[in-house]
Amino acid sequence: MLQKVDIKTTKRLEDYLPIVGEEVIDTIKALAKPLQGAKVLHINSTAFGGGVAEILQTLVPLMRDVGIEADWQVIEGADAFFDVTKTMHNGLQGMDLPFTARMQDVWQRYNEMNAAKLVGDYDFVIVHDPQPAGLLHFTGGRGGHQWLWRCHIDTSHPNPAFWQFLAPYLRPYQAGIFTLEQYVGPGVDFPHLAIIAPTIDPLSPKNAPLPLAEAKKIVASYGFDPNRPLLVQVSRFDPWKDPLGVIDCYRQVKAHIPDVQLALVGSMAADDPEGWDYYDKTVRHAGEDYDIRMLHNFHGVGNREVNAFQTAADVVVQKSVREGFGLVVTEALWKGKPVVGGNVGGIPLQVIDGKTGFLVNDVGECATKTRYLLQNPSAAQEMGIAAREHVRQHFLSTRHLIDYLHLFAALRG
Ligand code: UDP
Repeated sequence: MLQKVDIKTTKRLEDYLPIVGEEVIDTIKALAKPLQGAKVLHINSTAFGGGVAEILQTLVPLMRDVGIEADWQVIEGADAFFDVTKTMHNGLQGMDLPFTARMQDVWQRYNEMNAAKLVGDYDFVIVHDPQPAGLLHFTGGRGGHQWLWRCHIDTSHPNPAFWQFLAPYLRPYQAGIFTLEQYVGPGVDFPHLAIIAPTIDPLSPKNAPLPLAEAKKIVASYGFDPNRPLLVQVSRFDPWKDPLGVIDCYRQVKAHIPDVQLALVGSMAADDPEGWDYYDKTVRHAGEDYDIRMLHNFHGVGNREVNAFQTAADVVVQKSVREGFGLVVTEALWKGKPVVGGNVGGIPLQVIDGKTGFLVNDVGECATKTRYLLQNPSAAQEMGIAAREHVRQHFLSTRHLIDYLHLFAALRG
């Protein structure tokens, strides 16, 4: 049997009413009615760390609350497997890397092994990302009536070696779900294609309102001076998130605003073996500057602490060079922070240049816009108000639920 994720929290749709309004709640109820008792299984590769786990923590209990029997299971894998899937993740996002027969064999073997462990009988099985994408092939469809592949990464310009390998495993899926239409890689036509942007949960400990004084206290407990300006990037330590570029940006800002501090907050996901190497690299790049601090979950940085850093930040930066969507951007915008974000992937859906933040293409631009926001707090505040409203309308969990309910209804025909 695959490992079942035991979600302790329950969610109640009604609790979202004051935030999203009656119309949204009524729409969800109406859409859920014909789907009562439908059995849905989400499968991914980790219960903790990264955006997918974050989404499922809310989406699964919310589905349950509206009458769907939703489960979440994670596949098993040793380091050898996660090394390969991390390489695949990078290759599928376009990195120039070799993809050896041995690597392909490892991926296939683990998918076959996990497929053998899949038990249950579901109406819809939603397989998240490339790691478990072979499950449909290796189960022959056993366990699910309809199979959906949910891709959270940017596969618009994949390294062909990786995409050509994966494509035959994707073709049998009844539906493909992507964040942006342009992410659908070449040569795979799903019978159903859904474009669904990720969302955040406004009621989770990470996103629920935290008083500024409380947030500052938490940030101070990690060695930051709460009375000096603070730049924050919350991200895994990963080349695509460009923490080194953030440090370079901070240095340019610091040349003008010597008081500025930088927090790089990044959890170590169980399925991300590269994390520690890149963390070391980032620490070396920061050198002896004690106004830069790197924090991760081993420092006790959990949801509440991430919330505190995003709340206490003067400017939130997300200098990604590739970004499927960027939940951290959503989280920061929801806290009324304008975000200076890389002009890539899902970030422009969220950062409307000059309105909810700034889109930047290099370190220099990142520094200029960050400085502008630090030096113009009233403009920053105004953008922050627009930022929160943008998220309220488009990127909260209730919207995600609506999209899934629509898709299930369409697949049932
Ligand atoms: N995250 C966290 N602690 C950290 C770093 C990240 O809880 O130290 C969370 C973050 O708040 C967000 C998710 O992990 O909810 C990252 O999602 P995103 O889409 O930004 O990036 P991904 O890691 O999926 O590429």
